[in-house]
Amino acid sequence: MGQEKRITMTDGAGGEKMMAFIRRFVLANFGGNAGEIPLGMLDDSAIIEGIAFTTDTYVVKPLFFPGGNIGSLAISGTVNDLAVMGATPVALSCALILSDGFPLEDLDKILRTMRDCASKAGVSVVTGDTKVVEKSALEGIFINTSGIGKRSQFLDGNIKAVRESRKFSYNWPNDSAVAAGDKIIVSGTVGDHGVALLSFREGYGFESKIKSDAQPLNHMIAKALEVGGITAMKDATRGGVANALNEWAEKSKTGIILEEDRIPYNEAVLTACEMLGIDPLEVGNEGKALIAVVPQLADDVLKALKSTKEGKKAAIIGEASKKCRGVAMRTSVGGLRVVEPPADDPVPRIC
Ligand code: MG
Repeated sequence: MGQEKRITMTDGAGGEKMMAFIRRFVLANFGGNAGEIPLGMLDDSAIIEGIAFTTDTYVVKPLFFPGGNIGSLAISGTVNDLAVMGATPVALSCALILSDGFPLEDLDKILRTMRDCASKAGVSVVTGDTKVVEKSALEGIFINTSGIGKRSQFLDGNIKAVRESRKFSYNWPNDSAVAAGDKIIVSGTVGDHGVALLSFREGYGFESKIKSDAQPLNHMIAKALEVGGITAMKDATRGGVANALNEWAEKSKTGIILEEDRIPYNEAVLTACEMLGIDPLEVGNEGKALIAVVPQLADDVLKALKSTKEGKKAAIIGEASKKCRGVAMRTSVGGLRVVEPPADDPVPRIC
């Protein structure tokens, strides 16, 4: 008798294996062409009837961590997936799955964080659902949030500015729209969320210096769009910067070259990653966006980002280029190394 095939943790870990799983099971059934940015494009949100629409489920352990809790992730993650499409988030849903016996005090704390985070982002939670299940099914809380957004008031002007520099056939920034010459900006330090969580969970003791970066980025992104020239944006969540940039390279059919020296890091994140033998580029972030911009406007967009609280440490970290395939990085010592998409998550269950 053959071994029965079953789902594994890596099928949901956000890397290349999850991509294969999604193609085989999800797209095979739902991958139609509905919408301007359909499901099959696997972008941060779908665009349908002019509306951005996205959903995400949060299963992080532990529920409370330095810099936030599952509630700040549940709002920020979904708001950011709308914002990086060039959409202004309008409304969210909130579905709670709770285990029998979950402390009401913790639930209250999580919901208050969600309320505060949503109010910071300027969105309302307008619909939801609550289920309580036996402890054998779940221990703790899972949260699903879906969100809708409308076209940003700055998006037409942004695209007009792109078209003054080069051809651009899209109506929204997206993963397939990066082209050789575009500068790549990251909106702040890389790796904070994943490393903060790992350190806290495993008791490594770095958490006094490293906090999760979970935060809504929609106001910062609006400032950048107002300048214009943005061709693609992506929040570097699971699989980190390595995964997000490899997705761009593959979908846009362009190479991307990073400059290691220009990538902003918290010193403690680098130290922790070195000690633990993990690549900070593969670690998930919950409040950082990658932004591709036509070269003529890159400095202006950078300046706009730096004028915001969320984007103070933004930096131009590389550019799209025909000189390589996939993602490569010029290292501090002058060599060129390939930045592979991670096969799975080096730090599981961080969102
Ligand atoms: Mg995303």
